Amino acid sequence: MWRRGAGLLRLHLTAASAGRRVRRLPVPLPPAAPSPSTASSCCCQNLGIFRGSVGVPSRFLSNQAGGGGASGACWSCGATGAFLSCGACGSVQPVDPAVDYFQIFGLKREYNIKDNLEGRYKEWQKKLHPDLVHSKSEKERGYAAEQSALVIDAYRTLSKPLSRALYLLKLDGIHVDEEKTINDPELLMEMMEIREAVNDASDSQTLEKIQSQVKKKLETWSQFFQEAFEMKNFDRAVEATQRMRYYERAVEETVKKL
Ligand SMILES: [Zn+2]
Repeated sequence: MWRRGAGLLRLHLTAASAGRRVRRLPVPLPPAAPSPSTASSCCCQNLGIFRGSVGVPSRFLSNQAGGGGASGACWSCGATGAFLSCGACGSVQPVDPAVDYFQIFGLKREYNIKDNLEGRYKEWQKKLHPDLVHSKSEKERGYAAEQSALVIDAYRTLSKPLSRALYLLKLDGIHVDEEKTINDPELLMEMMEIREAVNDASDSQTLEKIQSQVKKKLETWSQFFQEAFEMKNFDRAVEATQRMRYYERAVEETVKKL
């Protein structure tokens, strides 16, 4: 029993210390320990960052904010500005690989989404719903199925902080090694304590309390990501995503048990 108490206390204290760490910004985080073979003036290598071609088409990288997007003439009526479905004739358009997830929802390409993502997602799904396009040609039904899958993917990616962060980095040409672990004994100890507290928790109230503490940590690193990303400090932005992953997994642990 005392172990559980101690674990929760420590969890609380480390949450408080993370808050202090963020308030001290922009003092740099301690860099990941460089191994002699990878030491370099840029810590990208240590963080598992690979900057460069990641298979994102160059058109994809244009900084075009949403609002309905790009796109050419409607294949059916020739109206210009047809996007997902044509505003003039309602025909569903083929997927345009140059359109990014933010454009799909008419959003600016930024981390903090203030608009109603879920509402816009539902609007698209209504327009693309198989029941609404069942009377259309096989070609158009095919477009609708592809667009619908794309809209679902876009929604899932943008609605969660970590996947949204990783997607933004990807649009900036930065690939994050998602399996890369962080060499930080304090973080690893904290994760062990969270896991232990989750295992020991015997009621949903305790689990919810743990979950709320872990979510606060996730939120702290989410804000950290936003600040680093806005300053184009990609090393720190990537490190923030790696820490967010630990906390996101910890939240999942609590969800599984609740
Ligand atoms: Zn049209």
